[in-house]
Amino acid sequence: MTTFDMVVVGSGGGPDETNLSAYLFKPASAQWEDGIIALEAGSGIGALSHLIHRDPRLFDPLVVDGTARAYSASEIYSYVRCFLISHAHLDHISGLILSAGSLGGLRKRIYATKQSLQDLETIFSDRIWPNLASWNEEDGDFKLLYKTLYTDNKYVNVYPDVSVRTMHLNHGHNELGNYESAAFFIRHDPTSREFLFFGDVEPDSISAKPQSINVWRAAAPKIPDTLSTIFIECSWPSGRRDELLYGHLSPEHLVDELAVLAKEIVKIKQEEKSVSRSRPARKRQKKNHASVDELRGALNGVRIFIIHCKDDNTASPEERPCDVILQQVRGLVEGKELGAEILGAQQGMRIRKFSVLVRVSALIQPLTEI
Ligand SMILES: [Zn+2]
Ligand SMILES: [Zn+2]
Repeated sequence: MTTFDMVVVGSGGGPDETNLSAYLFKPASAQWEDGIIALEAGSGIGALSHLIHRDPRLFDPLVVDGTARAYSASEIYSYVRCFLISHAHLDHISGLILSAGSLGGLRKRIYATKQSLQDLETIFSDRIWPNLASWNEEDGDFKLLYKTLYTDNKYVNVYPDVSVRTMHLNHGHNELGNYESAAFFIRHDPTSREFLFFGDVEPDSISAKPQSINVWRAAAPKIPDTLSTIFIECSWPSGRRDELLYGHLSPEHLVDELAVLAKEIVKIKQEEKSVSRSRPARKRQKKNHASVDELRGALNGVRIFIIHCKDDNTASPEERPCDVILQQVRGLVEGKELGAEILGAQQGMRIRKFSVLVRVSALIQPLTEI
């Protein structure tokens, strides 16, 4: 079933500024020039220029007067209608800020929680950066338009055929208190199918007030029928101590979180079974004692894209942290037999119909579906 079409402009968690969280997508049935949603905006035009240079077919060719040519990065960004931002850390907004004065096309909206928009305002303040954003619909088209996303369990339409439900996440704490990020349920309205995208997130198990559990509970009833693709961070490799997570996940914690989702799904199935047998619901399992047997295959049909792995400049090219982390997560998910497919969202990847199409070498290899 066709839903979305996405290009990964950047998927790292820093410090490499050429590969920071940034995903461009559109409904699969639309053309790029019809309009694009920018999900996070860490890397921007510079990174995209390099990707298009490496692979001119990354986007479908633009046909002008019967002649096909590749889109330029600035053309692609001129089609952006809105930005969807999980939180205002620089690795998620720097592309948006640097390009704010030079993006062509129609006026662009920035959708985020009130707090994240207020954080952005401190940058668009005529001090750190010119004030190129406004709350006022009547302001000139050259100014980005702030649009608040509320965490009220409702879906809000952000673009034709695309609606978003926003939920809070914990992303560590600092001297001001807890720092929040956001998760987005992104729905393709004509098919009611959606994917789930996590902004940066820390483990619920170390949070004073867990919030990811709310996201898992909202997701569980939809899996895998209407929701089968989840993007979630795993910033660190295995073995990192909790006090050094700085608001992020490691493979052990990510897989614990996935087990929480699996438990929620199992719980729903058990409840459905008892209802259909018209018998009183069986005594529930204690929350943390679901056995491997119970969770086996609970995430069948779910694809997890690992994002936001942090670079390690000391690692050898053969041991890229994103590859190491991916293998570690896969090993742990297989150990628990959860059934989810674990994939890396790599920079330059195009994800269509939410099956993955990887261009191994742009001009020689055909598209490879994995
Ligand atoms: Zn980040
Ligand atoms: Zn962050």
